[in-house]
Amino acid sequence: MNLRRTKIVATLGPSTDDPAMLERIFEAGVNVVRINFSHGADKVQSRIDAVRACAAKLSLTIGILADLQGPKIRIARFIEGSITLVPGAQFILDAGLDADMGTEEMVGIDYKELVDDVAFGDILLLDDGRIVLTVQEVTAPRIICRVEVGGPLSNHKGINRLGGGLSAEAFTEKDQRDMKVAVAAGVDYIAISFPRDAADMQYAREMLESMNGKAGLIAKIERAEAIEHIDEIINASDGVMVARGDLAVEIGAAQVPGAQKEIIRRARALDKPVITATQMMESMIENTIPTRAEVSDVANAVLDLTDAVMLSAESAIGAHPDKVVDTMSRICIAAERERETQISGHRMEMRFARIDEAIAMAALYTANHLSIKAVITLTESGATPLMMSRIKTSIPIYGLSRHLDTLGKMTLYRDVYPMFFDFTKVPIERINASSVNVLKDQGLVEDEDLIILTKGDHIGMHGGTNSMKIIRVGEV
Ligand code: PGA
Ligand code: MN
Repeated sequence: MNLRRTKIVATLGPSTDDPAMLERIFEAGVNVVRINFSHGADKVQSRIDAVRACAAKLSLTIGILADLQGPKIRIARFIEGSITLVPGAQFILDAGLDADMGTEEMVGIDYKELVDDVAFGDILLLDDGRIVLTVQEVTAPRIICRVEVGGPLSNHKGINRLGGGLSAEAFTEKDQRDMKVAVAAGVDYIAISFPRDAADMQYAREMLESMNGKAGLIAKIERAEAIEHIDEIINASDGVMVARGDLAVEIGAAQVPGAQKEIIRRARALDKPVITATQMMESMIENTIPTRAEVSDVANAVLDLTDAVMLSAESAIGAHPDKVVDTMSRICIAAERERETQISGHRMEMRFARIDEAIAMAALYTANHLSIKAVITLTESGATPLMMSRIKTSIPIYGLSRHLDTLGKMTLYRDVYPMFFDFTKVPIERINASSVNVLKDQGLVEDEDLIILTKGDHIGMHGGTNSMKIIRVGEV
């Protein structure tokens, strides 16, 4: 078992479609795969099938995250496929123009309401900020702009407004169709793109519930407004993603490192997992080694206590996804040795509201202050291991569950290692010994080691964890 504490999310794409490569990235340490519904929708089912087959072959628990496209606002297409914009020139975004008729003077836009959202003086950023336009005049259906920063511009590039505030609904009709596909495929998590506030997440959850979906919902924090509503969004979600690509365009790249720290802090305080995403190992799309800056970026996300770090193009279309995963894994492991990630002063001042929360905190406090080799938590919903994993520790937390969906959810939680164990198949008086044996059989603990076991009296009850026991291996 790979005892790296930070989880790795890898986006699938053409570069991982070869089954041998998929196997290599799993062996290199991928915990969760991301299926990006913005690209390659036709491949979704075959990729999920390949993931399940490969995970079974290697006896690994691999989580699946379906990432819905959301209302990314984009330009339409150019007659020639691309153009070059010259600084100082006029360029018109024209909601009335045919989608294929773009030229150096004007281009169509998919999101017709953009015309109502922008005003004189607004700064529009195209292609992740590579092109900068200022709005000179709005006369529907045309937005007349001046090119401030020019360069090449090709079909379907994204449009953001500096400072945010575009009104597009977070959940589109395409998202609804894609969510159905994701629910039918039984994915563990569904990521919602561009939510502005808790209401956007609640809407997505109503959609999910109407489809009887059980997946966790991840809010991608990539709009300026989302930062202002961060606590309510986290509370309305099952996890969040620091989606630095779009976020940088909206709030300015220089603001992102601070925002990343704050989002991670808030997610941990509110008992939710958090993924740090985008451009972490960007140069390794081509290169065989990362830049020093990329190494520091991944390490700093680990020191910020992110649950997971994510690869996008590096694994989906990169030259060597296996090498990227392996490199990222080694950076995480090295950063995890830093003492500041292991010593906790967590919630010292707090009163607990729930019994399972009190047990989770007591178990980790004890683990951190006694020589404990492992924490074993028998879990139905994964709630106890999630709460445990909000506390800094150097001790592995083994989440033992008989539910495949709970095992899938736990793939994302920092410090938590999901393991299948059906304690309903064991006589009650043998549960402790059998649980310890699950770890012993894999060489994770040995006789004389001290471990902590948490469980509930009533098997099968969610949130029922009410006991903690310190056990010496070999003596149960
Ligand atoms: P994307 O989301 O890759 O779907 O755009 C992540 C980001 O914006 O950073
Ligand atoms: Mn994005």
